[in-house]
Amino acid sequence: MADCLFCKIIAGDIPSTKVYEDDDVLAFRDIAPQAPTHILVIPKTHIASVAEVTPENSVAVARCFEVIAKVAASEKLESFRVISNIGADAGQTVFHLHFHVLAGKPLREQLV
Ligand code: 5GP
Ligand code: ZN
Repeated sequence: MADCLFCKIIAGDIPSTKVYEDDDVLAFRDIAPQAPTHILVIPKTHIASVAEVTPENSVAVARCFEVIAKVAASEKLESFRVISNIGADAGQTVFHLHFHVLAGKPLREQLV
């Protein structure tokens, strides 16, 4: 999508620190990390959020979770949290589906 920040990152128009990439999924470091490890995992197809997941596109979500497991192993994360914000009130600022992978400090003080 033309005006989507993460589509521009996928296209290489905006640089990112890539952690993993294949035909379907990109994982890269968050520009404003909220934990020592803060990686974003995104499908290469534009889906606005979890609320837009359908039977037709849900394979992209499964592929994201395969990559989350792969990245957690390569980053040697023994414990980590996966978060996806849906909608502005939940804190979503980029409307291209993404999963935050957070680790490296105690996360108990946060919501779940
Ligand atoms: P959200 O707030 O939508 O759940 O998460 C969006 C995330 O994207 C934020 O954690 C923010 O720091 C990150 N972000 C925003 N712009 C960029 C960018 O240009 N590059 C990278 N690597 N991360 C970004
Ligand atoms: Zn997009």
